[in-house]
Amino acid sequence: MKSSLERQIVAGPAHPPAHPMVPEPWRVRRVRRETPQTFTLELEPVGAREEFRFLAGQFNMLYLFGVGEVAISVSGDSNDAHKLVHTIRAVGPVTRALQKVKRGDTLGVHGPFGNHWPVAEASGKDILIVAGGLGLAPLRPVIYEVLANRNNYGRVALIYGTRTPADMLYNDEMKQWEKRSDIQVHATVDRAKAPWSGNVGVVTSLISKVEIDSRKAIAMVCGPEVMMRFTVQELQKRGFGLENIYISMERNMKCAVGFCGHCQFGPTFICKDGPVFPYSRIQKLLTIREL
Ligand SMILES: Cc1cc2nc3c(=O)[nH]c(=O)nc-3n(C[C@H](O)[C@H](O)[C@H](O)COP(=O)(O)OP(=O)(O)OC[C@H]3O[C@@H](n4cnc5c(N)ncnc54)[C@H](O)[C@@H]3O)c2cc1C
Repeated sequence: MKSSLERQIVAGPAHPPAHPMVPEPWRVRRVRRETPQTFTLELEPVGAREEFRFLAGQFNMLYLFGVGEVAISVSGDSNDAHKLVHTIRAVGPVTRALQKVKRGDTLGVHGPFGNHWPVAEASGKDILIVAGGLGLAPLRPVIYEVLANRNNYGRVALIYGTRTPADMLYNDEMKQWEKRSDIQVHATVDRAKAPWSGNVGVVTSLISKVEIDSRKAIAMVCGPEVMMRFTVQELQKRGFGLENIYISMERNMKCAVGFCGHCQFGPTFICKDGPVFPYSRIQKLLTIREL
């Protein structure tokens, strides 16, 4: 089966938006509460666009009419071109307003923007996915794609950490993945009370436990920046080269197309050149507190 990258190269985007700055209308088909602050919106197209092609790691700009717009990663399955899925944490004006949308409401969407996780490039290699909190959202399309083409990869492991069990995303899917024998799943929380009987501790404490050959593996990491820094240190101890560790930079962004400079760092634009970078390229950026 072709990877989504290959499909896009062969087919091109199904219906590119008329202009990158013009949002297209999408209707809310389903709203799913993940945690008290986090929710997943499933959208269906209204009007011309029937298919939406994206690559794991890309993001859209979601526009709530009269309120504003925000960059949100696509968290759904790139093999399902007929619905668009985003998982959002309500932190400020736009995301709090998005939290109030209901089934049948219409949003503006433009995208997809940015580059992608190296899923095709990881073919034949082991894959280690490390996610913290909301960081599982942009990595979920990687999990879907890898599991759909499982024979293309060596060993696959997912380490997922949150503050508490109540902060975990996608609980049903996590349980399904845990049952599979072809993916190692390790979940952990910073603190917990009964009935939680799983790991307690930060994600880095589990890196030594996964069965992965770091000499022929790719790591994909997304979460709070402090978590990503410490994860990279642990991965280095396990023998990963910095060029084989990829992270997603989800810092403040406005235009998404390299016009405004909001997410610019020297010659690097997170929106155009990222959000996914090999750590070897982005190491310096993580030492700067705010862009
Ligand atoms: C490429 C990319 C992908 C993203 N994917 C997602 C996603 O899948 N789901 C999701 O919920 N959010 C995602 N974000 C973050 C989202 O775009 C911001 O949280 C957004 O700015 C919130 O807008 P707001 O108007 O609600 O709040 P704002 O007024 O913009 O921000 C409210 C508060 O949150 C802080 N904040 C804003 N953006 C960030 C950020 N990126 N990281 C940490 N703190 C921030 C601000 O400093 C402020 O304190 C992504 C960002 C980028 C750049």
